Amino acid sequence: MPSSKVLVIDDDASIHRAVERRLEDVVDQVLKTDSPTKGIQVASQEKPDVILLDVNMPQLDGFKVCRLLKESPATRDVQILFLTADSNPDNLAKALDAGASDYISKPFNAVELEARVRVALRTKQMIDLLQERARIDALTGLKNRAAMDDALFAATSAYHRTGQLLSLLMIDLDHFKKINDTYGHGVGDDVIRRVGMSIQTGRRPYDTACRFGGDEFGVILIHNESDPGAACSKQIAERIINGINQIKLRTGGDEIDVACSGGLALASDMPEGFEPADLFKAADEALYEAKSEGRNRLVVATPGD
Ligand code: GH3
Ligand code: MG
Repeated sequence: MPSSKVLVIDDDASIHRAVERRLEDVVDQVLKTDSPTKGIQVASQEKPDVILLDVNMPQLDGFKVCRLLKESPATRDVQILFLTADSNPDNLAKALDAGASDYISKPFNAVELEARVRVALRTKQMIDLLQERARIDALTGLKNRAAMDDALFAATSAYHRTGQLLSLLMIDLDHFKKINDTYGHGVGDDVIRRVGMSIQTGRRPYDTACRFGGDEFGVILIHNESDPGAACSKQIAERIINGINQIKLRTGGDEIDVACSGGLALASDMPEGFEPADLFKAADEALYEAKSEGRNRLVVATPGD
C-alpha cells in the first residue's frame, strides 16, 4: 500500500497533539500547521491524502481554504474533512458544498476520527489508482498520449531551466495495415504488444516510452552525465528500432517480420526557447521523411534546414 499522509490545519495546538496520537496507527505521517495560508502551501508541496481542516480560524475561514484547495490542480483530489464544533445543518451543508468529503464534530470521538480518516484514505487511493490507469495504454502498458505530453513538457522545461538534454524519438510500424489485413486484428494487437515490450527493454530507466495510438510510439530520451550527447541518443534510438525490427511473431505456419521507421529530434538542434510541440513536430517530420525515403530507417531531424 502507498504511504499515507494527513495534514491538520487548526489554530488549536491541542488538536494537533490529539489527532497525531489517534492517527498514529492509521497513517504513515501526520503534518500539522496552525496557519491556513501555510496549510495551503504545505498541501501543494507535500500532497497529503487527507486534510483535517478547522472551520473557525482567525486568518482565513475553513470554507475559503477548502475552496482554494479544490480550485488548484495540485490539491484538488485531497480529501478534506472539516473539524467543527458547529452542528448547524446549514453550516455542515456549506462545508460539503465547498468541496469537503465529510466533517467530524469537535470534540471528536477517537474511534469516529480513525474510521472517517480510513474512509477518506480509501477514497483517495481509488482516485489515485483511476488516475494512474487513465494515463496508461491498455494494450501495451506503456504511458499513453496524455502522460507523454506531461513528460515531454516536464523534460522540455528542465532543459530550458538546467540544460538537461533530451531527444524525442517517434516510431511508426511499417505496413502494419497489411499485418491486420492478412492475419486479423488480434494478431495485429499481439504485434503492438510485442513492440511495446521491445521498447521497454531497449530504453534506459530514465527514458519515457509511450504509445501515441495505433501503431505509433514515442520515447523521450534523457541524457545523463556520462552521455556525450547527440551520438548517444542516436545510438539508443537505433538500439530501440533494431529491437523492434528483430521481432518475429509466429502465427499458424507463418512467421511475421516486424519493421518500423523512426524520426529523432534533439533539443540541442532546436531553436532557442522551443516548445514541446516544436520538438514533437521536428521528430514527426523526420519520421515522415524516413517513411518517404523507403521506410525501415531512422532519420535525425535537422530543424531550420
Ligand atoms: P506505413 O508504413 O505508412 O505506416 O503504413 P501502415 O500500414 O502502418 O499505415 P498506418 O501507420 O497509417 O496504419 C496504422 C494502422 O493501425 C491503421 C489501423 O487499422 C491500425 N490500428 C490502429 N490501432 C490499432 C489497434 O489497436 N490494434 C490493431 N490491431 N490495429 C490498429
Ligand atoms: Mg504504420
